[in-house]
Amino acid sequence: MNSITGVSLIGFAKGQEGGGARPYDPSKRAFFGPEFAWARPEEVANALQKAQDAAPIWATLGHKPKADFLRLIAQGIEDNAARIIELATRETALPSGRIQGEIGRTTGQLRFFAKLVEEGWWRDVRIDHSDPSRKPVPKPDVRSMLVPLGPVVVFSSSNFPLAFSVAGGDTASAFAAGCPVIVKAHQGHLATSECVGNIIVEAVRQSGLPEGSFSLLFGPGRSVGTALVTHPTIQAVGFTGSRSGGRALMDAAAARPRPIPVYAEMGSINPMVILPGALTDRSQLLAAGLAGSVTLGNGQFCTNPGLILLEAGPQTDTFLQQLGSELAKVAPGAMLTESICHEFLGGLSKFTELPEIAVHTKVEATPGQVGPILLTTSGQDFLAQPALLEELFGPATVAVLCNGIEEITKVVLALDGQLTGTIHASPADYEQVKTLYPILAGKVGRLVHNGFPTGVEVCHAMNHGGPYPASADGRSTSVGSRAITRFSRPLCWQNTPEFLLPEELKESNPLGLLRLVNGTWNKDLPE
Ligand code: NAP
Repeated sequence: MNSITGVSLIGFAKGQEGGGARPYDPSKRAFFGPEFAWARPEEVANALQKAQDAAPIWATLGHKPKADFLRLIAQGIEDNAARIIELATRETALPSGRIQGEIGRTTGQLRFFAKLVEEGWWRDVRIDHSDPSRKPVPKPDVRSMLVPLGPVVVFSSSNFPLAFSVAGGDTASAFAAGCPVIVKAHQGHLATSECVGNIIVEAVRQSGLPEGSFSLLFGPGRSVGTALVTHPTIQAVGFTGSRSGGRALMDAAAARPRPIPVYAEMGSINPMVILPGALTDRSQLLAAGLAGSVTLGNGQFCTNPGLILLEAGPQTDTFLQQLGSELAKVAPGAMLTESICHEFLGGLSKFTELPEIAVHTKVEATPGQVGPILLTTSGQDFLAQPALLEELFGPATVAVLCNGIEEITKVVLALDGQLTGTIHASPADYEQVKTLYPILAGKVGRLVHNGFPTGVEVCHAMNHGGPYPASADGRSTSVGSRAITRFSRPLCWQNTPEFLLPEELKESNPLGLLRLVNGTWNKDLPE
């Protein structure tokens, strides 16, 4: 029975009770369930010590036990799906279909990384044989591969209570790399976090892994979270949330005597350019698709299209009417947390107070709920008003009416780093697209053509990250197989005798891995 007790999970031990906050139901605007205790300093220290003790075992853990462990977590989530749906829908106000979808995504990610671990190519094994006869100096035998960093901290996101939370992509990729994980739970879904945390602890037990493989701590980011990030045991951080939170953790990690990487995904306004030919061909379809993307999950997606760039003119006026009508069909809904709702309404009123902004839809919402908003401004006013570069985390989008493609280009050039950039075009627009593509590419982590940025496919080629401030390090992704490299580092063995080499690097290739040998990729299978 996966019961909710409101205490941190410190390896196999439970934290003390009492003293924190109760889970909150944003739809009913009411607290429920037991009080969750915030982890005390000694409990944080205990979790860190256990993680440190587990790290050497994880560093050399074979691919089979690691993959089995990931699959066991996935199975545990599926076995507890009804309970998870009950808790997560209540704590986040997201519909059960969405939570069901997230369960599929979360278990899919865990199995995706299990397969990756078994295939082993993520290790990026490189072998250069020695050449003792090389002149003027002999060439040494050099071998390298990626190895785990050690214990990592994961900060759950508010907007994906499963897929970017306790057993989400950061945790799955850190385990896959071979790192013990300490999760700092998000306060927006405390009970869901404990439920999933219990599943991971049970999987650790069943797998015979050390108890410090996983801990789940409840408590405020500024105390519990910062204590974890600044502790010498921790080697890297995964985070999804606000720019201020991500930046605070980046700064705390950089100020350590031995700094560590913080992989923070901090959101974005995801510019979308709709060119005139596309509007001529499919204005109504685009309006319906865009309204769906803007309001998906009540706009609480990091890939929400928050900025639409169009050429001003009668065709665009018609499109905006169509978009306004489509948005008005979507009912207001509760946001994930009271503070996200408060921040959205605060940000919105800052925007609407600006003389440069016009409000196209106004939805009467009850307290705690928000409805879709369409704002418009001109290209010239947008360029003059840096406040409009801020993310409105909710069902809102700003349409910028530009004076031709030159002004669209100027707006794109003025943007910060973004997770995504989208272009809608028809063949009549292709000359403009050719010019715009490289400019947009310089600003984003993912280019979307004639589509919508919401919905991030979990696959090998996916990149979910972007130049700062979309993410802390634009060279990294939090989705897809490359996510594993965030929690690993290259290690090189020079002239090392065969018996001391890990399996991956042995001459006979006992694991049958794809390896770069003397500059050629091959998969020399064992005899
Ligand atoms: P958040 O406030 O950044 O919180 C995320 C996590 O970071 C929480 O566990 C929080 O801890 C911790 N944290 C925040 N500030 C911190 C600090 N200064 N030091 C240490 N830890 C800190 O994000 P949120 O609660 O999910 O939502 C707030 C806003 O973030 C939203 O309105 C939206 O603008 C943005 N957001 C962006 C994305 C995205 O896609 N990148 C996703 C969700 C939200 P505690 O809250 O427990 O103290």
